[in-house]
Amino acid sequence: MVGLYPGTFDPITFGHIDIVMRASRIFSKIVVVIADNPNKKNLFSIEERLDFAKECLKDYPNVEVIKHKGLVIDAVEITQASAIIRGLRALSDFEYEFQMAFTNRQLNDKIDTVFLMTSARYTNLSSSMVKQLSQFGGNVDKYVSPIVAEALKKKFE
Ligand code: ADP
Repeated sequence: MVGLYPGTFDPITFGHIDIVMRASRIFSKIVVVIADNPNKKNLFSIEERLDFAKECLKDYPNVEVIKHKGLVIDAVEITQASAIIRGLRALSDFEYEFQMAFTNRQLNDKIDTVFLMTSARYTNLSSSMVKQLSQFGGNVDKYVSPIVAEALKKKFE
């Protein structure tokens, strides 16, 4: 069974990787889909986000990383995935995730969204938090892999 894990991944953090690790024990294959949305102001380009995710997930044999422009549900159909995977941290994620899951269900009722809870140590971790921390010279080694930490440092130099 293929699970599709969509997101912005700007940049990929240990929280995202934790979800992939958990999902890879449930699904036979995970497709990580990096949203290529030119309207969203991201720090890293689509190619950079793709490279980071590929590098960070290279040790998982059943994980593939792709980029995708357009609706998540289209990526589900292209990859023949059975479910969408999303991570949940705190209650604050719920409202948005609930809306997204219902919207996707309206587009294709056969596809369900599966929510996986992150490890306790990553409940306060987000890409935005990592970017802010790095921007002000904070150490992000606990939250992202060395290639991402290095790239963040360069961006804010
Ligand atoms: P999006 O813009 O689609 O929300 P993100 O890259 O911010 O993209 O997040 C992708 C998914 O990963 C979302 O389901 C989000 O809740 C989840 N996620 C982000 N950070 C964490 C974390 N620290 N632990 C668990 N899940 C996370």
